Parts: sequence; structure tokens; C-alpha cells
Amino acid sequence: MQARVLDVRVDCLDMPATLDRIERLVDAGGHHLIATVNPEFIMRAHRDRKFAAVLESADLCLADGTGVVWAARRQGCSMSGPVTGTDLIPPLAALCGGRHFRLFLLGAAPGVAAQLASRLRAEHPGLEVAAHPGSPDAASDEETLALIRAHRTQVLLVAFGAPKQELWIDRLKDRLDIGVGIGVGGAFDYLTGRVQRAPAWIRRAGLEWLYRLFQQPWRARRMAVLPVYAFKVLSAGK
Ligand code: UDP
Repeated sequence: MQARVLDVRVDCLDMPATLDRIERLVDAGGHHLIATVNPEFIMRAHRDRKFAAVLESADLCLADGTGVVWAARRQGCSMSGPVTGTDLIPPLAALCGGRHFRLFLLGAAPGVAAQLASRLRAEHPGLEVAAHPGSPDAASDEETLALIRAHRTQVLLVAFGAPKQELWIDRLKDRLDIGVGIGVGGAFDYLTGRVQRAPAWIRRAGLEWLYRLFQQPWRARRMAVLPVYAFKVLSAGK
């Protein structure tokens, strides 16, 4: 089932169903985009037609965060909770290890993706994982594409933050010979402990945004859209 939250598609999948779909997309071959949609994505899509079109073209739009799960449930979605990039990466790495899908971690500050790759390699012997900080700027495209191709990448995780990561995957879709590209935002920073994640009880209470605001006050401007998002969802009636 799918919901449309303020006209942005959201797939009603929880973690096991998401992993199953990713496995099938890689097996199917061809290029696939997966987005982890949070309320900031949805509000941005309203004022950025290009970003809205890229999200519409995605093969999967996962519900990243309680704000999107809340809105999707109002339309009858029955997923058990959000599927965030940070929660997805560990079981996805296990899937890639088991199925011999070649994984590539792109983005974040220098050294971060490489540190996460080492950890995943240690946890999943046999997992073929490469890493590169890269950049969303076009000047870096050739170097990054060469590394992704040399690794014969099948699952590419891109951590440039939204909307840069989705636009980057879309811009290069005809040259990226991969199965699946997934935008994962700040997930590498969380998984390497550079940024502390909110405790589980705060996440369950739907207050992760408040925790992030205290931790990274520079997010205040970006987060100003959240009350508007809640108001619009309630006004939409379902
Ligand atoms: N980033 C990057 N290159 C850039 C801009 C950002 O690699 O040009 C990385 C940054 O280091 C961080 C991630 O992108 O790891 C964005 O994290 P953020 O938490 O802002 O993303 P969100 O989850 O909010 O989209």
C-alpha cells in the first residue's frame, strides 16, 4: 500500500518488507532510487518542483520518522514504525553480505564512510564494501563514478543530505551502473558515533526532532517547517 502525504508518495513498508523489496530491486537489475522521506522532504517538495519530480520517480519512498508514519497511518497504512537510513544500514549490510551484493558508502566528512565500512566488514565477513567521501559537486563526478564502477557496486548509499543526495543520484542515473541508490542523510555520522542519536524512548515518543534541535541548534531554520507540516496534514483531513 502507498499513502500520499501532502502529495508526496510514501510506501507503507516496515523494515522486513523494505529489505525484501531492496533484494528484489537488486535482483531485477537496472537503476533504482530509494528515498527516506521525512517531513522536511515533503515541505521542500512543495516549493521545489525538481525535487518533487525526483521523489515521484523513486522506486521506494520510505517513511523516515514518526511525523511521516503518523500522517501515513491516518490514511490506513499499518507499518509498525519508521524506516530510517540509520536503522536500515545494519540489516542491509547483513543482506548484502549474505547475497554477495557489493556495497558502496558515499558521502559524509573524510574518513567517516571509511570507518563505517571497516566496521561493517568486521561484522559481516565476506561483505564487499568500499567507501569514498566524494562531493555532490559536478567537478567530483568523474572520480566518484570511476570508484563506484571499479567496485562493481550494486547497492550505493549516498550521504550528502537531502535534497543533494537524491538530485545527485538522479543526475547520474544513466551513468551509475548500480542496482539501487539510497539517500541516507546523516546516517554515517550516527552509525560512527560522531552525532549522538536520541534515546529510543525519545524516538518512540516522536520527539527526536526536539533532541536534534538541542544537539544541533543550527537546524532551527530547517525545522521551522515542522509545525507547518503538522498543520497541513491535519488540514488535509486524512
Ligand atoms: N554532506 C556531504 N557533502 C556535502 C554536504 C553534506 O558529505 O556537500 C554530508 C554531511 O557530512 C552529513 C550528511 O551529508 O554526513 C548530511 O547530514 P544531515 O544530518 O544534515 O542530513 P539529513 O539527514 O538531515 O538530510
